[in-house]
Amino acid sequence: MTIDVTRYRGRFAPSPSGPLHFGSLVAALGSYLQAKSQGGQWLLRIEDIDTTRIKPGADSSIMRTLEQFGLYWDQTETYQTERLALYQHHFNELVAKQLIYGCDCSRARIAQLGGIYDGCCQHKGLHREPLAWRLIPGPVATEFQDLVFGMVQVPAAITQEHYIVKRRDGLFAYQLVVVLDDIDQQISQVIRGADLLEMTTRQQALCQLLGKTPPEYGHLPLAVTAPGHKLSKQNHASDIGAQQPAQSMVAALTLLGHPPPSELQQATVAELLAWALKHWQLSQVPKQQEVLVSS
Ligand code: GLU
Repeated sequence: MTIDVTRYRGRFAPSPSGPLHFGSLVAALGSYLQAKSQGGQWLLRIEDIDTTRIKPGADSSIMRTLEQFGLYWDQTETYQTERLALYQHHFNELVAKQLIYGCDCSRARIAQLGGIYDGCCQHKGLHREPLAWRLIPGPVATEFQDLVFGMVQVPAAITQEHYIVKRRDGLFAYQLVVVLDDIDQQISQVIRGADLLEMTTRQQALCQLLGKTPPEYGHLPLAVTAPGHKLSKQNHASDIGAQQPAQSMVAALTLLGHPPPSELQQATVAELLAWALKHWQLSQVPKQQEVLVSS
């Protein structure tokens, strides 16, 4: 049997650090509409790798809210904490290729450098844990073609940084596992919030380092309460599940450049979703990194 990997596969990858808020509804809805308007699959991956940030019950609350909006995912949802063996396997391979090294630099030292690590431990041969483990990314492009923003330039300092793939506390870092998961789940297009725009070149480069073709990427405007302040679980953005779903759906579609027509003012969530599926075009999404909303 041959598997058709050219088939569209998208995903929504929330971190279960709180209930679904308006900002994550926008990412869920945008990635869902893009996948479903292409006749593709839309997977749900619970990104619970950072166990220090998990709120008990947030995963099921997120899933209930997605269902309330009619955003049903294909296949069984996956949890990163159930995939540690896969991450360890690839981590070991990168260590064997000498592309990962131990680092004992303090956060204070890196903050003094302006937040970008300078590679100072690369040749120290550190092995005594606790250590953070950093990846040498190799040659990395400093621009990429985004499906929404067009050509995006990423500062060379960010793309070339030797970034952490396993943390000092022993947890694998988001930067590693997101790429391993997207490869393993054969994700063909990643549609997500614009807060991750500058991480894309690094993720594409890691994919290539692992011998795989990276997915395409498209970034959606981010709901912010003030410039640079993402609406997030950390700033206690309210639980979208507790609000009027049809109103939230209209607001999310409007932010995504698809304001429903006035005759749909009283429509149900299912009617709004059906309308959106029919009219969805990624090219209509505003090329705007941030959109101000009230929390
Ligand atoms: N888990 C990330 C978040 O909740 C999203 C990661 C991604 O879409 O690549 O912000």
